[in-house]
Amino acid sequence: MDKNVLRNLSYGVYVVTSKDDDRDVGCIANSVMQVTSNPMTVAVSINHDNYTNRCIKKINKFAISILKEDSDAKIVGEFGFKSSRDTDKFINTNYNIVDDLAVINDSCGYFICKVIDQMETNTHTVFLAEITNADGYTDDNPMTYKYYHEKLKGTSPKNAPTYQEEPKKEDTSSKKTGKWRCKVCGYIYEGEELPSDFICPICGRPASDFERID
Ligand code: FE
Repeated sequence: MDKNVLRNLSYGVYVVTSKDDDRDVGCIANSVMQVTSNPMTVAVSINHDNYTNRCIKKINKFAISILKEDSDAKIVGEFGFKSSRDTDKFINTNYNIVDDLAVINDSCGYFICKVIDQMETNTHTVFLAEITNADGYTDDNPMTYKYYHEKLKGTSPKNAPTYQEEPKKEDTSSKKTGKWRCKVCGYIYEGEELPSDFICPICGRPASDFERID
């Protein structure tokens, strides 16, 4: 079986937000799809280990902000590679409150969802939800997962449904050029030396959080 064929499916990059009592929580999702138009319903898949999963189950409400190609990549670092369990992901993020939920300003827009059903898989909950409110900010290109992967050199967090372990193949190019991987988000920097003041463009961690992998 060639699992790589699944890499040809198309995905976006979304911030899913909900509430933990009065506290805003959120995570990154790429498996979001509209399933019907009348009523407007969407399905989204969230890992059981994501703190946001249990919060959605408590209030049966969440919002989805659609990231755009030029959204600050640090939003992905903040929401995709940290946990709302012990982090306030909104301290460094501009957001608005709509229908009591936080939505990300630096995005194409958002929609607000009310959960109408859910299904458990081994690792993820698939929420089926009706859209109760929506607004668009811009006609900019939405960020696709392919764009995130190829242009921003980002990787999937292990909790993403699309996560696949990178094949450990012999890379002859790295014999000439060094490769450094961010231990937090997986971003790859190519260069013989990693500058000591380098900051990860995805998650904002310093050079000390990188490891040489070639
Ligand atoms: Fe990083």
